[in-house]
Amino acid sequence: MTVTLDLKDPSARPVRPSAVQTLDGKPTLIGMSRDEMVAAMAEAGVPEKQRKMRVNQIWHWLYVRGSSDFADMHTISRDLRETLDARYTVGRPEIVEEQISDDGTRKWLLRFPPRGAGRPVEVETVYIPEEGRGTLCISSQVGCTLTCTFCHTGTQKLVRNLTAEEILSQLLVARDRLGDFPHRDTPQGAIVPAEGRKVTNIVMMGMGEPLYNFDNVKKALLIASDGDGLALSRRRITLSTSGVVPEIARTGEEIGVMLAISLHAVRDELRDVLVPINKKYPLQQLLDACRTYPGVSNARRITFEYVMLKGVNDSLADAKELVRLLKGIPAKINLIPFNPWPGSDYECSDWETIETFADFVNANGYASPIRTPRGRDILAACGQLKSESERMRKTDRLALEAMMISGHGAD
Ligand code: SAH
Ligand code: SF4
Repeated sequence: MTVTLDLKDPSARPVRPSAVQTLDGKPTLIGMSRDEMVAAMAEAGVPEKQRKMRVNQIWHWLYVRGSSDFADMHTISRDLRETLDARYTVGRPEIVEEQISDDGTRKWLLRFPPRGAGRPVEVETVYIPEEGRGTLCISSQVGCTLTCTFCHTGTQKLVRNLTAEEILSQLLVARDRLGDFPHRDTPQGAIVPAEGRKVTNIVMMGMGEPLYNFDNVKKALLIASDGDGLALSRRRITLSTSGVVPEIARTGEEIGVMLAISLHAVRDELRDVLVPINKKYPLQQLLDACRTYPGVSNARRITFEYVMLKGVNDSLADAKELVRLLKGIPAKINLIPFNPWPGSDYECSDWETIETFADFVNANGYASPIRTPRGRDILAACGQLKSESERMRKTDRLALEAMMISGHGAD
């Protein structure tokens, strides 16, 4: 949706995270499972009896304390710290740019080093502070193999999957920059939740299709929700998919996070165009997978994303069909004003049309939040965008992105 990328080498192949080389050429411990870390201790010559204990210590330093340097880890002997430092890294990616909007939204442009024969890639991560929560939007791939016609990312070829380290590093960098680790200061004037953690929720809604990078996404999210580390509740993690039906049940069973579906159309003919993966997995199959999503209940609803495209999918008849289709599925509907980009063929629906649509869906018992204060700003931007999308102010762009990302997962 929102991210930029380096397309110089579309042929770069995904690599296994355990073989990842970082900028300084050393493999990273970030993103390794505990078992992989035990193996890394063995390689570093740690006696077998001590390995598990060392892994627990390092895990704590990395994911509770937010350490990015072995030198901090003073519960570990200096000798071992030096041995580990010689072989491995726990460093962060380069922050190329940090943007901060008036409403507190932040966006980081991160540069990840080459993988294998590839080149460095750049990925954006976005933070949205709201009343009582802070949501981080994370990318899973650089580019996307799918070609949804309204999505900017869909015009960009897949460069490669992000590794578990790279997915997780987006969260670690955000927490670094927000002072969201023990004994760290939050930057002066930063807009963050008044109490508790600054990053309370994660949405896998950045660039890419997370279910086409299942293993790395799973690994990263299991580390993000590990109770002895980053400890984010799985109810506060939402994974958004365009509808990779065969991986949906596994997402519930093996990762256990909240699910969002990029629906956008209620008839197969239209969805085949807007979200072409529909040709492979049509609506009926997609909705059946939602109906049986492991753990789905009224307390754990599925979010259906619906981008409002003028004259395309925004009629009252569409709203009626939406309500009919979702019958029996514990659901929330997130109406997203279309965010135009240079060269896109669509326009954002009028504000009144969005309201009429939302009112109908609401009256039929589905929460379909449009965040009014931000939404109105955004609509103003949306109107201007027809002829001026390239000149859209950075803050407008951020506000639009915030609209898509906010309000997901438990409070
Ligand atoms: N690939 C996954 C994750 C990306 S989520 C998926 O498609 O679900 C990003 C969300 O923003 C998706 O619901 C996507 O359909 C939506 N989106 C993409 N481009 C958009 C645009 N120009 N305006 C509004 N929403 C858009
Ligand atoms: Fe964009 Fe998601 Fe479609 Fe990929 S699957 S093109 S990221 S909307």
